[in-house]
Amino acid sequence: MTEKVIYNCHNHIFTHENIPNGYFPMFLVPALRIAPLRWLLKAVMKLVIPWSKNDRVHRYAAFLKAAYRNSQEGNLKQLMGYYPVGSKFIILPMDMHYMGAGKIKKEIDEQHRELADLSKDKKYSDVIIPFAHIDPRRPGSLERLDSLVNNDHFRGVKIYPPLGYRPDNDILMKDIYPYMLSKNIPLMVHCSPGFVKAKWLTKQEAYALTDPDNYIKVMDTFPDLRICLAHFGGISEWRRHINEPRTSEKHTWLKKVINFIKCGIYPNLYTDISYTIFNFYENVPLLKILLEDEVILDHVLFGSDFYMVESERYSEKRFSIDLRFALGESMFWKIANENPKKYLGEI
Ligand SMILES: [Zn+2]
Repeated sequence: MTEKVIYNCHNHIFTHENIPNGYFPMFLVPALRIAPLRWLLKAVMKLVIPWSKNDRVHRYAAFLKAAYRNSQEGNLKQLMGYYPVGSKFIILPMDMHYMGAGKIKKEIDEQHRELADLSKDKKYSDVIIPFAHIDPRRPGSLERLDSLVNNDHFRGVKIYPPLGYRPDNDILMKDIYPYMLSKNIPLMVHCSPGFVKAKWLTKQEAYALTDPDNYIKVMDTFPDLRICLAHFGGISEWRRHINEPRTSEKHTWLKKVINFIKCGIYPNLYTDISYTIFNFYENVPLLKILLEDEVILDHVLFGSDFYMVESERYSEKRFSIDLRFALGESMFWKIANENPKKYLGEI
């Protein structure tokens, strides 16, 4: 029997060069490219962080640290270091050009190119599973995807609707999804109310674009397309799910995703536990109970959302070990090996 390896299905390794200048307030993105300013901020954070109980501060600090590593390769090496040798990582690029937050130093084609080069490097060719970020508003989406799939062996597509478009956008429905079916590659979508949103959208508008219900039309039109609604509804929806009585009128996104999976109409729908399960002690009990249901267990993917959740207080290595211990071997390997292979079309 060959040894089983971990597939982490949700990771980011892009850097500050791929983030728009107006992503953070006060022109922090370009300002922090100046080393002395970066050192100053680090010094301030070093003073604040040991005193802060707020997880957000810890995550912010870790995010900045990762985003300002000098290359995608630097982030990849950090990620690989948290997992056993042989582990594989789906890498999700981000195209933030159309969110209205200003100039980007290295646009998506350059980000894709660097990722393609890394994935062809002998050191990483068995490690990286590259996905293409497709924003349907960018001209030439289909040609871009076709080239990445054929020439660079990209193996899936990532979309991010709160950046300002619907998942049933015309280009996606007419060009991208049919193409993906012809190549047998899956879709990864951001599907949690914790999002980066286009500057001109209100929170409610971005929420409406991200809603799991928007995928009914996509799934009905393309029943064979393998789709992962990432984050299993998201942290705030898990909190709502646990804290509000069942009679609550508005279904949580967690409940919506569970209903899609359980209804039996959408066997090619998956979800991942990335980000959400990083609130480990809060959410792992419910996750384990949900996974006792075999239909749900068959459709959940292991993912972490590196480096969005990197935190000095709770390392990614500890997270994956804690999760494996909490779920037990058979459940863990199901979501970290067998399901990812099905989602990717390897089996
Ligand atoms: Zn993510």
